[in-house]
Amino acid sequence: MSEFKTKCLIIGSGPAGYTAGIYTSRAGLEPIMVEGSQPGGQLITTTEIENFPGYIEGVAGPRLMEDLRAQATRYGLNIISGEVTDIDVSKRPFAVTVNGSDTTIVADTVIICTGAKARYLGLPEEEKYLGMGVSACATCDGFFFRNRPVAVVGGGDTACEEALYLANLCSKVYMIVRKDYLRASKVMQKRVMENEKISVLFNTNTKSLYGKDVLEGAKVATKTPSGIDDIQDIAIDGFFLAIGHAPATEVFAGKIELDEAGYIKVQGNSTATNVEGIFAAGDVADPVYQQAISAAGMGCRAALDAEHFVMLHTDA
Ligand SMILES: Cc1cc2nc3c(=O)[nH]c(=O)nc-3n(C[C@H](O)[C@H](O)[C@H](O)COP(=O)(O)OP(=O)(O)OC[C@H]3O[C@@H](n4cnc5c(N)ncnc54)[C@H](O)[C@@H]3O)c2cc1C
Repeated sequence: MSEFKTKCLIIGSGPAGYTAGIYTSRAGLEPIMVEGSQPGGQLITTTEIENFPGYIEGVAGPRLMEDLRAQATRYGLNIISGEVTDIDVSKRPFAVTVNGSDTTIVADTVIICTGAKARYLGLPEEEKYLGMGVSACATCDGFFFRNRPVAVVGGGDTACEEALYLANLCSKVYMIVRKDYLRASKVMQKRVMENEKISVLFNTNTKSLYGKDVLEGAKVATKTPSGIDDIQDIAIDGFFLAIGHAPATEVFAGKIELDEAGYIKVQGNSTATNVEGIFAAGDVADPVYQQAISAAGMGCRAALDAEHFVMLHTDA
């Protein structure tokens, strides 16, 4: 069993975590990062990123994350492999357990950057076509489907927003809605229903996706009053999931205040949680924007908040 001490522990190695690492290292907090089971975070799973500032030609997700990691370690970020499995928030400094009881880290401040994962339907083809037509982010990938037909799965506000966003770019947008109504606000429903490019398929479930190398279509089943499903093929190049995200907050439940959907609540404009000395940044505390650059920006703010806290509350 090993024990480490730090002025700032960063949990998670996505854009938020590495950015917090760059700032806290340069500020002399000698931070430690526990990188989690997916070093580099969500962007490791994607090919081209065209909307992260500074990369004129776009950049591959793994390359971007390697660059951020190299920049953070250059200034002294110490990275430890493993998952945080427990945290004692009852007193400061906080005691954080990594991988069961292998390692304990005692930290004056903690920045939680554990991210969130998109929910998928669970179809085997979703994984097969991920990045080849299947996406959970219209803002990220919609541009790749300009003037081509796509579908959006979901019936809430996010699904409506994604459908409207895609309708500006794509030739046709199908909305695949499980229920016989949209759960979105009235104004969003109206905009969707009045948009000529959007066809809403109510009472409809996706049965399967198909295509030779890339996605070419979906088989969908619509419930009819007779009780027999009406099965049809829709030709689409893009299949966008908009059925929510699951924030990675299991370890913090009951210790740090979460909202109804499990996201960490932060106070006002800051990144402070309800526990003094613990901050949160990126998708785990942001159900709205969920972009690499917004996560990185919040990582910067959390680092500045942690730095300020250390200055006021420790002998450093
Ligand atoms: C396929 C795909 C394509 C995308 N494309 C784009 C794009 O083009 N442009 C864009 O701006 N955004 C894109 N996004 C969204 C972007 O990836 C996220 O908004 C961003 O990665 C969020 O960063 P984050 O630092 O908050 O968390 P994440 O990137 O989710 O990283 C979370 C980190 O926390 C770690 N972790 C989790 N639990 C623990 C634990 N208990 N202990 C220790 N570590 C833990 C994980 O292992 C991971 O390292 C895409 C997302 C996906 C999935």
